[in-house]
Amino acid sequence: MKRYDILVIGGGIFGITAAIELAQRCYKVGLVNPDSIPHHLAASTDVTKAVRMEYGSDQEYFRMAEICIDRWHEWNALFREVIYHEVGFLMLCQQPMESAPHTYEKASLENLVAHGYAPDRLDIGDLKARFPAINTDTFVQANYNPKAGYVASGRAVERLADYARTIGVVIHEGQTAAEFVVRNGVLQEVKTKEGSTFSCGHALVAAGAHTPYLLPELQPYMKTTGHPVFWLRPKDPTNYTPPRLSVFTADISNTGWYGFPFLPKQGIVKVAKHSNGIRLHPDQDDRRINDAEIAELRTFLANSFPELQDAPLVYTRRCLYTDTLDGHFWIDNHPEIKGLSVSTGGSGHGMKMGPILGEMAADVVEGKEHEFSARHRWRHLEEATVQLEEARHVVNRKI
Ligand SMILES: Cc1cc2nc3c(=O)[nH]c(=O)nc-3n(C[C@H](O)[C@H](O)[C@H](O)COP(=O)(O)OP(=O)(O)OC[C@H]3O[C@@H](n4cnc5c(N)ncnc54)[C@H](O)[C@@H]3O)c2cc1C
Repeated sequence: MKRYDILVIGGGIFGITAAIELAQRCYKVGLVNPDSIPHHLAASTDVTKAVRMEYGSDQEYFRMAEICIDRWHEWNALFREVIYHEVGFLMLCQQPMESAPHTYEKASLENLVAHGYAPDRLDIGDLKARFPAINTDTFVQANYNPKAGYVASGRAVERLADYARTIGVVIHEGQTAAEFVVRNGVLQEVKTKEGSTFSCGHALVAAGAHTPYLLPELQPYMKTTGHPVFWLRPKDPTNYTPPRLSVFTADISNTGWYGFPFLPKQGIVKVAKHSNGIRLHPDQDDRRINDAEIAELRTFLANSFPELQDAPLVYTRRCLYTDTLDGHFWIDNHPEIKGLSVSTGGSGHGMKMGPILGEMAADVVEGKEHEFSARHRWRHLEEATVQLEEARHVVNRKI
């Protein structure tokens, strides 16, 4: 039987960063994950995830993202590879930014300026000149912030897992945690579906969308929701290639739509929706995208990026959020089981925070307070709880 000081369950961004931080704090760390890391169905496994400080009026996420952007640069240097691409962030508005519907954009701009940044305010003329693919009959104003971009998330997890191995983390691929052995309220062991038993002083559950199924006591507070992702192949990528396009939000708090510039390696432009999504079970439900969603995409493209409206759709995916009712993460010790902690609840915006998630989880395991841990603690959330992440288009603010 293998024994670890700390066993991390799940090798997505929440788990792998925690494993690295705990190993750097000199614990003997093991990590289990089904199949391989990055897992093909993991939320962290993708070609791009947006990295932005633009969180509306939210000061804490702004500060967390600001710290993380600097640290993504450090990881680029550590890995001698550009996994974080600082191509900038464009917030498109269908009306003047001061108008009521654009509270997210307006508050994000005010936050940037209040923290000493000088993003570009763009009107129709500027948009035509700098971002020619955008339909200025639809979008009349925008805000461009160069300190932002996207992370090649699957590649980031792959490099972080390799790095974790070099500092002593023992990664057990092909192992699926299934049972916690608890005696007198204290965790002793973790048993896997594959028949292995891991003895550990402490376990950290970072199993993404599977977390509320491994720990059903979390089900009242978080849901698994599926969100569409589309890959389009432009006839001519010129107008979709930075600096002619960056990461963009298309009046996101009212539409949910956002996207990324052309990716030469895959030859595509990725577009996705940050909205309610559909509730589903991570293992039992069909994740395929339906025709109505594709029709909605085509309508969005016709209004926003006319050149792309008939572009071939080369890949679609429904990716899963571990959606807490309020949209904050869930990083804390189990209230009843000693030696068991949880780090999850990315709620569609956790990847960018990778560089800070590890220390938040490690502090929790060590029973310490972290500068940003307060609102991510184990909490009682009523069914009526509203979503607080200001960029997200959520009907009635409820998932
Ligand atoms: C469509 C979509 C778009 C997104 N866009 C952005 C974005 O632009 N910017 C951003 O910051 N964030 C974004 N996110 C959110 C971000 O991707 C997630 O918050 C983050 O990746 C969650 O990481 P995780 O480690 O919790 O989960 P995952 O990455 O899903 O990892 C969980 C891991 O646990 C493993 N596991 C599951 N069950 C078990 C078990 N029983 N035993 C052992 N291991 C197990 C899985 O195999 C997996 O490897 C997006 C998410 C989605 C779905």
